Amino acid sequence: MGLDPGTGHGVLRFEDLSEGATSLELALTAEDLSVARDELEMEPAVAASLRVYRAGETFTLTGQLRWVVTGECYRCLAPATAAQAVSVRLVIQRRRAAVDEQRAVAEDDEAALCDPGVQAFDLRPWLREIILVESPIRIACREACPGLCPTCGSDLNQGPCPCNTAPADPRWAALKEVRFT
Ligand SMILES: [Zn+2]
Ligand SMILES: [Zn+2]
Repeated sequence: MGLDPGTGHGVLRFEDLSEGATSLELALTAEDLSVARDELEMEPAVAASLRVYRAGETFTLTGQLRWVVTGECYRCLAPATAAQAVSVRLVIQRRRAAVDEQRAVAEDDEAALCDPGVQAFDLRPWLREIILVESPIRIACREACPGLCPTCGSDLNQGPCPCNTAPADPRWAALKEVRFT
């Protein structure tokens, strides 16, 4: 319990896991996970708090992944961060399986199979997929960020701009569309 069974950079070694529960704390870099730096930079490293429950040749991983997406606010372009926390689950079975079954498992995000002789399981592709799917496409510096004035480009976080543009009320916008003929 609670020991670090030599998971290195995200590789699970079966021989280090005894029957029952083992706690794993992983800290991975963007490089470990081959996540493109130009898309979403992640700082600090991705942290995974996992519990592995071994029952014979079945290893059930549950826990949480945490990471921080950094980038620009999509409204005002200021530096922004968004903390992510996602619950994860994966059941790895080490046994022979028919091709049909292997195909079915390949489609399942929460299941994996490996051959009886295999000694280690690389968690990184699984973690990578979760991070890519769960990272927000755009982030805001704060929820109520008013963004830039569409007319003069001033940052409205600094106060009203010279042209003093109030956010357009969609009801008036709709009225403007009405043509009286
Ligand atoms: Zn902003
Ligand atoms: Zn303005």
